[in-house]
Amino acid sequence: MKYRNLGSTGISVSEIGIGCEGFAGKTDEEILEFINLMELEGVNCIDLYTPNPQVRKGLAKAIKHRREKFILQSHLCSIWENGQYLRTRNIAKVKSGFETMLKELDTDYIDIGMIHYVDSISDLDTILNGPIIEYTKELKEQGKIKCIGMSSHNPVVAQKAVETGIIKVLMFSVNPCYDLQPADEDVEQLWNPEKYNKQLLNMDKDRQNLYETCEKLEVGITVMKAFGGGDLLNSKYSPAKVSLTPIQCIHYALTRPAVASIMCGARSIEELKESIYYENANNEEKDYASTLASFPKISWEGHCMYCGHCAPCPKGIDVASVTKFLNLVKAQGEIPETVREHYKVLPHKAVECIACGACEKRCPFKVEIRKNMREAKDVFGE
Ligand code: SF4
Ligand code: SF4
Repeated sequence: MKYRNLGSTGISVSEIGIGCEGFAGKTDEEILEFINLMELEGVNCIDLYTPNPQVRKGLAKAIKHRREKFILQSHLCSIWENGQYLRTRNIAKVKSGFETMLKELDTDYIDIGMIHYVDSISDLDTILNGPIIEYTKELKEQGKIKCIGMSSHNPVVAQKAVETGIIKVLMFSVNPCYDLQPADEDVEQLWNPEKYNKQLLNMDKDRQNLYETCEKLEVGITVMKAFGGGDLLNSKYSPAKVSLTPIQCIHYALTRPAVASIMCGARSIEELKESIYYENANNEEKDYASTLASFPKISWEGHCMYCGHCAPCPKGIDVASVTKFLNLVKAQGEIPETVREHYKVLPHKAVECIACGACEKRCPFKVEIRKNMREAKDVFGE
């Protein structure tokens, strides 16, 4: 298992994480089986959006003597009322919900205290200018949460949140279909078939800005909906009418800037194993470029998707990484120190490009790679 830094939090998370919604209805023994496999395979990051007491208690028993081995991303403002999940902004309910969470999880701290599901600017304003953010900061000062996060499906809202400097972890919905769609306060609209009937061109600007801003501000992204709730794995349900594999979906999300871990849904041990297999998959299995290029009515022409399909370069240049760093510099109008450091450790730099053009022949998105290599050489000086 590979691990990534979760932004500037000091927390190291496994590339493959798990979302716990699949634990609902499972026995304690079944949950234990998941956790044992996760420990064995090094999966350390667990998202727990659900306040379902049965899930929390089963998980608590399974991690009891190995709590420090897992990173719990658990959600504030998500409570259990009358036998069902409820999102709340009522501060009294938020507070008692958090105490219940600690009790049910049988722990005295949560690694990532995630403010749950903020998809509109007015909701964000309510949170940032009211008691919820103050309470969350208090929890951090008391060590009850190690860092503050927020979950959202809306890039405009998420951008505003991370720019406050308070939110250090963003849980965001990342997949190639969402990435085409403009921000919407109603997440259902992102899957509306009508939105895919017209010609779509390239990644939505707000989404790209968000990923680049998170990279710049060192906000770590944990990913939800990487498989589009499973729809992207089946051409019948995918809004793009083309199916992707779980490995391709995971690789797509992991190749966005600032992304640290994918919270894969798993209803069975086999599904969890399918996601963990990503770590052993070869480049061909991870490659999503040709599949994306075959989406009808959708084009990413001229836009680098950081897919790596253009490899190998005879000079060993990692074109996807060089282009990603170049785009981060262009977006920010300066060279951030972290980007300069990342570029520095690349074994082969843009200056080595001999402009053979082999990569351009392989790029399904017609990216002007040679031009990008020249620009990267000028920007980084090597
Ligand atoms: S240049 Fe093309 S093939 Fe290479 S990483 Fe970018 S999009 Fe993929
Ligand atoms: S054009 Fe440059 S980056 Fe592309 S394959 Fe040739 S040497 Fe490598």
